[in-house]
Amino acid sequence: MLSIAHGPSGAFIVSKISNPLVSIPLAVLIHYLQDRVPHWDVGQGLTHGLKRKSHSFIQELFLDLPLSIIITYLLFQHNKDFNLFVWLGWFAGLLPDFIEFPRLFLKHNHPLLEWHHKFHKWFHVSIPNKFWGLLPQIATLLAITYFK
Ligand SMILES: [Zn+2]
Repeated sequence: MLSIAHGPSGAFIVSKISNPLVSIPLAVLIHYLQDRVPHWDVGQGLTHGLKRKSHSFIQELFLDLPLSIIITYLLFQHNKDFNLFVWLGWFAGLLPDFIEFPRLFLKHNHPLLEWHHKFHKWFHVSIPNKFWGLLPQIATLLAITYFK
């Protein structure tokens, strides 16, 4: 899924479960489960050479990631004191994708990164249809907004 779904999901989990020893690992775990839901993300098309990595990187760095921060801020921090755990939850919700970045964009292939890539890929189900691929992510954000 996109960072706009993963980041706020991690922040949501941490905001609901006060023990970080439980909530932070859960935020990471939920990332893998969310990736199992058929979705569209900025990496769509890379595998079949339909999209360039640089295009995907620019979309991630200048659109998806900043929007994830803005949405998390608006949902959990707007008019509130700074809450480190909200941002740790945001980070934990995105950690599996952050671990992928060196391998994907810098071609850094450490054996542990390769192992994680296979593990992450096993969960990952992306689809090219933007409507059906974005719908579960929009539903996630609406659910977080409602239940926060
Ligand atoms: Zn992922």
